[in-house]
Amino acid sequence: MYDFNGLNEECGVFGIWNHPESAQLTYMGLHSLQHRGQEGAGIVCSDGNEFVSERGLGLLTDAINKTKMSHLQDYQYAIGHVRYATSGNKGIENIQPFLYHFYDMSVGVCHNGNLINAQSLRQELEHQGAIFHSSSDTEVIMHLIRRSKQPTFEEALKESLRIIKGGFTFAILTKEGLYGAVDPNAIRPLVVGQMPNGAYIIASETCAIDVLGEEFVRDIHAGEYVVINDEGIRVESYTEHTNTAISAMEYIYFARPDSTIAGKNVHAVRKASGKRLAQESPAETADMVIGVPNSSLSAASGYAEEMKLPYEMGLVKNQYVARTFIQPTQELREQGVRTKLSPVKDIVHGKNIVLVDDSIVRGTTSKRIVRMLKEAGAKEIHVRIASPEFMFPSFYGIDVSTTAELISANKSPEEICEHIGADSVAYLSVDGLIDSIGLDVDSPYSGLCVESFTGDYPAGLYDYEADYKANLSERQKAYLAQNKQYFDSEGNLNV
Ligand code: AMP
Repeated sequence: MYDFNGLNEECGVFGIWNHPESAQLTYMGLHSLQHRGQEGAGIVCSDGNEFVSERGLGLLTDAINKTKMSHLQDYQYAIGHVRYATSGNKGIENIQPFLYHFYDMSVGVCHNGNLINAQSLRQELEHQGAIFHSSSDTEVIMHLIRRSKQPTFEEALKESLRIIKGGFTFAILTKEGLYGAVDPNAIRPLVVGQMPNGAYIIASETCAIDVLGEEFVRDIHAGEYVVINDEGIRVESYTEHTNTAISAMEYIYFARPDSTIAGKNVHAVRKASGKRLAQESPAETADMVIGVPNSSLSAASGYAEEMKLPYEMGLVKNQYVARTFIQPTQELREQGVRTKLSPVKDIVHGKNIVLVDDSIVRGTTSKRIVRMLKEAGAKEIHVRIASPEFMFPSFYGIDVSTTAELISANKSPEEICEHIGADSVAYLSVDGLIDSIGLDVDSPYSGLCVESFTGDYPAGLYDYEADYKANLSERQKAYLAQNKQYFDSEGNLNV
């Protein structure tokens, strides 16, 4: 995992009901979710009457400083968000949670993921007189809820959740309850935990539950929402049209290794994928295996174990360097690369290396690392990627939404090998990935959303469809043509 040029991660949400230190706990929960978004953070708190909000740009520690935290004392209910923009621009007005004051109630709302029909819904709503305050698609759900004719907030929420499409989770706070909702495919994860004092939390990942010393209660499944209020906790479905397809990228790249999604620990899954990769594509001449810190280390250890090769630290990541995207020029960016990641020369010099990374998206990361390792004296570099070829854009909240930015949309592994200057390149197969994750879910997608590798979009494409189809590359078309299941009965691409 090494983000040289600002590919966007997704967001993290958190919520807590009925704890005297709700803001502090939300802060700690968000801190453990920081890997999911570093562009901004916010917290909305309430005591059941008053609602207050603090938010800011950057890392949590910058976004919400001591002074801001002091405004959030003594509230029992809170939601929080760490943001990496997947839609909308990067201004403060887009930092969530959003807090709305209506004549009859206040509502805090934040979300993770991407709504794929937000643009058309927004247009429709604007025609009906709605005025949007930010460019974030999160606002759409609030408009839908307020326009609903349903008698209760919960009914209005249910109705709105049925209208929006895509991969999403929501955390919503009203004076009556804390609500968490998951898209009909469970593309994006949400879990519930409980504190020793009985208070419940919701969070994007289980690491936030662990960090607070809480007990995991359950995952929120496809098409479900949870209501937490003074009466306790209730999980309901808002739709019967569900088909579990958890984003494989959560396991591959986004989630923290200590998190567990749908019963599968992320580190264990990555390690298993590394082992499978070694079985599928052994690098016979290698002396050692190294991983690209941080998210590839688990897969690299699995690869090494399977190959009975030493697992070495050939690259060191400086954990304290700000993200490279803030540096404007290519030259500065390259310099940033060197300050963030350095080769351990004495280890790699003269050695044949297996370099394991979790994914190749644009190809810039691998190219630079291969060059860096060769400059440090490495002899052969065999790149092994612990996920399949990233051939298709994703529209469900990971901000890799155009074919143009995907190197595998146009180049074969052999061409990529040449492009990045490696001695060989190989990827995990799609079956290898699915087996390594090993979900036991009865769904045509094996419980997983692997759209970036297969072009099969379980939640459809909606506003993105025309553009996606118009920009399919020859390589993508050839892949889809070979995989007939992606065509409908009339021979149209079944995206
Ligand atoms: P690239 O240089 O574009 O090939 O980037 C690939 C690197 O980015 C990999 O090492 C991944 O760890 C990381 N990565 C993969 N997907 C994403 C994403 N959606 N956002 C940010 N980084 C990503």
